[in-house]
Amino acid sequence: MPIYEYRCRECRERFEVTAHLAERDKLAVCPKCHGKKVELVISSFTCAAPRKY
Ligand SMILES: [Zn+2]
Repeated sequence: MPIYEYRCRECRERFEVTAHLAERDKLAVCPKCHGKKVELVISSFTCAAPRKY
């Protein structure tokens, strides 16, 4: 399953959620303050290795 990284807008806690796309928003709850005001962090640089063409 894909891992999504979230950041809480209340306490700025960063956490990861492993879920399918359909269950993603349902499981995206801050583990620290249990807030649901979270935003998805797009980690597009995870596998951004330099590529030569
Ligand atoms: Zn929080």
